[in-house]
Amino acid sequence: MSECLFCKIINGDIPSTKVYEDEHVYAFMDIMPLTKGHTLLIPKTHCQDLFAMPEDVAANLYKAAPKVANAIKLAFNPAGMNTINNNGAAAGQTVFHYHLHLIPRYDDTDGLDVGWHTKKLEMDEMAAIADAIKSHI
Ligand code: 5GP
Ligand code: ZN
Repeated sequence: MSECLFCKIINGDIPSTKVYEDEHVYAFMDIMPLTKGHTLLIPKTHCQDLFAMPEDVAANLYKAAPKVANAIKLAFNPAGMNTINNNGAAAGQTVFHYHLHLIPRYDDTDGLDVGWHTKKLEMDEMAAIADAIKSHI
């Protein structure tokens, strides 16, 4: 898509620091990294987000994900890694070409604070929620 920032990066119209590329995907350093090694993995086919992503595009993206994640792991020996994808402005998406954040984690002072405030559900509530989803698959 001609106006898309990440399509321009794939095409080389905007410079980026590439770490991996194949026929289907492109991986490059996030310009504002959360931690050392923060990398973005994107499909070469423009899709706004996960909702708009064809299954074969998703399959090719996730085929490459372990390769790039393990390269980051071997390079910097992080203690862990968050793989995050924000879909929609309400979820924090700012660039509307799907991207998987690969964010290596080092220790509790690495600057990333992922809030995870869970709720307890009754089994029947959970089953009703699952049924609502299942009815659309
Ligand atoms: P989002 O908030 O959409 O999940 O993440 C967008 C990410 O793209 C951010 O982490 C941001 O730092 C990164 N980003 C935005 N513009 C550029 C750019 O021009 N080059 C690179 N390499 N990363 C970018
Ligand atoms: Zn794009």
